[in-house]
Amino acid sequence: MAPKKKNTTATVTIPKSNKRTRQSKPKPKPKPKPEPGFTTTTDDIEDFQFRGDDEVGGIRASLLKWYDANKRDLPWRRINHDDDGDDETERDRKAYGVWVSEIMLQQTRVQTVISYFNRWMEKWPTVHHLAQASIEEVNEMWAGLGYYRRARFLLEGAKMIVEEGGQFPRSVNDLRKVKGIGEYTAGAIASIAFNEAVPVVDGNVVRVIARLKTISANPKDTATVKNIWRLAGQLVDLDRPGDFNQALMELGATLCTPLSPSCSSCPVSAQCGALSESKRNPSMLVTDYPTKVAKVRQRHDFSAISVVEILEGEEGGSEFLLVKRPEEGLLAGLWEFPSVSLDGEADVVTRRQAIDDFLKSSFGLSSCNVVEREEVGEYVHIFTHIRLKMYIELLVLRSRDVHRKKAKGVTSYKYVDTKTLASMGLSTGVRKAYNMVQKFKQTRSNLIPK
Ligand code: SF4
Repeated sequence: MAPKKKNTTATVTIPKSNKRTRQSKPKPKPKPKPEPGFTTTTDDIEDFQFRGDDEVGGIRASLLKWYDANKRDLPWRRINHDDDGDDETERDRKAYGVWVSEIMLQQTRVQTVISYFNRWMEKWPTVHHLAQASIEEVNEMWAGLGYYRRARFLLEGAKMIVEEGGQFPRSVNDLRKVKGIGEYTAGAIASIAFNEAVPVVDGNVVRVIARLKTISANPKDTATVKNIWRLAGQLVDLDRPGDFNQALMELGATLCTPLSPSCSSCPVSAQCGALSESKRNPSMLVTDYPTKVAKVRQRHDFSAISVVEILEGEEGGSEFLLVKRPEEGLLAGLWEFPSVSLDGEADVVTRRQAIDDFLKSSFGLSSCNVVEREEVGEYVHIFTHIRLKMYIELLVLRSRDVHRKKAKGVTSYKYVDTKTLASMGLSTGVRKAYNMVQKFKQTRSNLIPK
């Protein structure tokens, strides 16, 4: 009997969407017109294949060899485990490290993530430690990384894993059942920690595959993303899926970059369709792939921020009022200074009126108790889809006039002293507002003759 031929292609569950790339509500888009020299449209992307064992084998071997020699030394890669060993604890530790790092890396640069990852792992070295944490602690640790929903999902996911026995799910399908673990993260954990031969597709992989196969279809289209997952599934190495996936992403992050790819140093240049096309046709560049797509227009929001400081008695101490944001939506569950959304640019009278209404209706704070009120400045904070302009004021109130009664219409609130405020994990925007107030006070005191 002839020996069974080894299947050289991984099984792929095609996800509904690429979770690592920016998510936006799909709008009907006109079909992209093929540009001169381009050979594909969305209509025929399903015909794309890597050509048999020669092409697939060549890419796998070259990429893994390059990765072994050039991979970046990153802390989550130092959590070692033995692929063939049966130490389940070590595998869980690896899975946990991959999970935390992958969630942190979404929308955030590697260099920024490293110190956050190290601090996180020191405080919560296993999923069991994390499951014991509070949302306050997790938000504090996450402060400055942005997209705080990611931190909340990590905590909720950890609690779920521990409640269900404490062992990390081992397959993509089981990992997907954990809160906050999407197709991308499930693929990364399953392939890197548990050696499951599944692909992983992020923006880097989309770019590399679009160039290897000269795919000019819109890379944001669901159909294109689906097919790139399918192609990545053909490529993934069956013996070293985790290393292969990391190699493909590493290639996109370091050599096959969006604007200036280093094709002369690329380990898969011999198999690259875009490179060979650009050699045949000098009017073409490898950077013509993937097709550039117009960015989603940012929404412009405006808000008035009041840094409310309550003077405490004759000694000069003071406290600041912090309000908890709603548990859903932007910066969910985080502490901030009292703020009010505005309809657009607003003058100081309108802003103060809006703030006064909010402070009065929510806290019973009255503007007749004001010791000092100053405009501190403006600050623009950019979120993925939102450009938020904040008008920041300092509002100092007399302690004896402040009625600390139950707030209406806010999730929660508290008064904290300067020391506590300085040590709290605050979002970048809140920290910036506080620093602006401190700077304003410092500048003013420097102007007063001693
Ligand atoms: S040859 Fe150039 S364009 Fe092609 S995969 Fe390598 S770096 Fe990217």
